[in-house]
Amino acid sequence: MKRFALAGNPNCGKTTLFNNLTGSTAHVGNWPGVTVDKREGMYKKCSEPISIIDLPGIYSLSPYTPEEIISRNYILDEKPDCVINIVDATNLERNLYLTTQIMEMDVPMVIALNMMDMVDKQGDKIDEKELENRLGIPVVKISALKGTGLKELMDRALETSLKARKGKTVLEGCELYHLINDVRIALEGQSIENPLFHAIKLVENDELEVKMHATTIKMVDEFKSTFKNDLFGTDFEALVADARYKYISKNYSPLMTKKEKGVKLSKSDKADKVLTNKWAGIPIFLVILFAIFHLTFGEDFLYLSKIFALPSLEDLGLLVEVEGEMVASNFGVSLLACIYDGAIFTPGVILFNLMDLITSTLFGYITLGLEALGASEWVLGLVGDGILGGLGGVLSFVPQIIVLLLFLSILEDTGYMARVAFILDRIFRRFGVSGRAFIPMIMGFGCSIPAMVNTRTLTDERERTLTLRTIPFFSCGAKLPILVAVAGAVAHMVGMGDGSIISFLMYVVGMVVAIVSIILMRSTTQRGEVSPFIMELPAYHVPSFKGLMIHLWDKTKHYVKKVFTIILASTIVVWFLSNFTWNWNMTGDINNSILASIGQFLQPFFTPLGFGSQLNSFGWVFVVAAVTGLIAKEEVIATFGTLGALFVALGTGVPELAAEGANDVYLMVLGTGITWPALISFIVFNMTTIPCFAAVAAAKGETTKGKFKWTLLFWIVTSYVVSTIVYVVLSWWWTLFIFLAVAVGVVFAIRAYNKKHPVKGVN
Ligand code: GDP
Ligand code: MG
Repeated sequence: MKRFALAGNPNCGKTTLFNNLTGSTAHVGNWPGVTVDKREGMYKKCSEPISIIDLPGIYSLSPYTPEEIISRNYILDEKPDCVINIVDATNLERNLYLTTQIMEMDVPMVIALNMMDMVDKQGDKIDEKELENRLGIPVVKISALKGTGLKELMDRALETSLKARKGKTVLEGCELYHLINDVRIALEGQSIENPLFHAIKLVENDELEVKMHATTIKMVDEFKSTFKNDLFGTDFEALVADARYKYISKNYSPLMTKKEKGVKLSKSDKADKVLTNKWAGIPIFLVILFAIFHLTFGEDFLYLSKIFALPSLEDLGLLVEVEGEMVASNFGVSLLACIYDGAIFTPGVILFNLMDLITSTLFGYITLGLEALGASEWVLGLVGDGILGGLGGVLSFVPQIIVLLLFLSILEDTGYMARVAFILDRIFRRFGVSGRAFIPMIMGFGCSIPAMVNTRTLTDERERTLTLRTIPFFSCGAKLPILVAVAGAVAHMVGMGDGSIISFLMYVVGMVVAIVSIILMRSTTQRGEVSPFIMELPAYHVPSFKGLMIHLWDKTKHYVKKVFTIILASTIVVWFLSNFTWNWNMTGDINNSILASIGQFLQPFFTPLGFGSQLNSFGWVFVVAAVTGLIAKEEVIATFGTLGALFVALGTGVPELAAEGANDVYLMVLGTGITWPALISFIVFNMTTIPCFAAVAAAKGETTKGKFKWTLLFWIVTSYVVSTIVYVVLSWWWTLFIFLAVAVGVVFAIRAYNKKHPVKGVN
């Protein structure tokens, strides 16, 4: 079967093209470096099926980063039948730089001139026929996004793949060409494949090549000793790069005629003047983030009820009293209550309520059905409390996770997130961290796993380590249920009525912890030089609806699948452990169960964090929930759901609240006598501790040998220390001064130490 490889600069649309050709749903993001590994799919619309390989984006074939090595080696070693070089036509000159390098390999290639829809919209023109003539390589205009020109592209690629192509170079007029040619002939004599490509890399003094061709390099070095260029001295790499750019701008660039625009700033530039402003940039980012969290978690849409006095459903006389509880009088009112009750709810909360209504109605019927079938007591318990209690708790949050991810994908796809990395670069460069590191961190808001894989794009090994360690602090979608449920309880306790501000602050706390630990690690165990940050800002796009939907569908599938597999399984285990004693007798009192005894054993360790020994008999549920969170973070809330149902079935708790119709979990949490600072500390602990198993495995795969155990320890220590500080300071505000004094002391100690023991290359 034929294999075609997609190669091109970051953000030129490779993945969009890949998805369009193969019908897959790989992640497309409007920032560079989203694809870090190669990926394969099938194209079936040609006369024969063709395997398509999406390679990581690269600026050149001189490998500095792991993904450049992946792409280069793929073309050299795996010898695809054709390389489809995707060129972002809105950035012709810079993209052709890579083209001139791929051309030097002996591999069939075609050029896909992508983003033609943008070029047309801007009124620019490209003479692709003449470009094809001058390059000697087929050029096809396409729009990966709109799907135009793809059939022609694939037909030309298939045709091209039938005959071999000899590499050629644009460096023929360059003063080094003589040397290049001699080296090429020498390499050909050794029957080395791709002689022209290797010859040029050798002349450029490319590290990998120099190692590979130890004998030939002597000849190159001999020549070089007699060579002198006025401008570049003996920096041959720069000399070659300069020659390439000169050739491109002389021969290829004139083929693009830009529409006269005068000196007016483009819309993107105007927006950037504000959004990436030195002072306004960060506040704007925080405001946007808050708006997103408000729309996802806030009960009171735009705080309208604070402005207008709106009547509640009870005031409207729509509720009736049943057994001392006020409930909706009919299903219509229940539906209305999902959207409005004294305040118009936000989209996230409306969806949450609807999902809750659906699951609780459905689960009610299941329980009734089981009872009608005469199911035994323990089956009813397992299904009703264990499974449905646990799953229901998690399922209701799926819509909110989706809403949050939708907003974040919009930010990413418009190109705004790339700006955020740029703004953050300006601030954190002085602390030794480049803006590039923030891309995987921000990706962590979705899921830690792809974010951890993305750290491969960082060149500096230490920067990679510290980025990877802080990714879990950017609270992922699966931690959202913890935030919402617990923040909601806190809001109730302190009388705020709306958890959205608390949830937002929790996200901010996560980011602050990340930033502080980055700075600490960078100045202690992971010292090193800041790597240069070369990311050009992509133009703002209107996000593609199809792309967003693909992305969301993928995520929804992921969460729902997780609910019905790993969470279902662990919920059943939790139910059994909380219903049986060590000698496998079913117990009526959950406090005698296996789970309780494990929880009670661990409980004292959490006393400084506020949810340890100071709590009543049920206090162990927090410890148990946090431990089950290691399986999957949703499991924290699932465990609460299961235990809450058992707890209420026991009839213990707070009778006044039960009469008000507070839910089981809330009753259980209050029944433990926990304080709100301890609840906040509980959220912080879950946010900063060891992530789920899957993420731990990803971290193990991405860390250098020997660093993994330190990474685990880092998570344990950080979460323990930070949660303790949060609990102590919120409970006794004056302790803040003690902690500040300690912090100042630590900073001075580190500075003094670093002055005495400087690291090479760090000032
Ligand atoms: P990759 O980094 O090369 O894989 O690029 P992606 O496929 O992730 O695309 C980067 C951005 O460019 C995304 O926001 C895409 O929606 C956008 N994009 C890709 N192809 C086109 C196109 O043909 N036209 C336009 N207007 N946008 C495109
Ligand atoms: Mg990609």
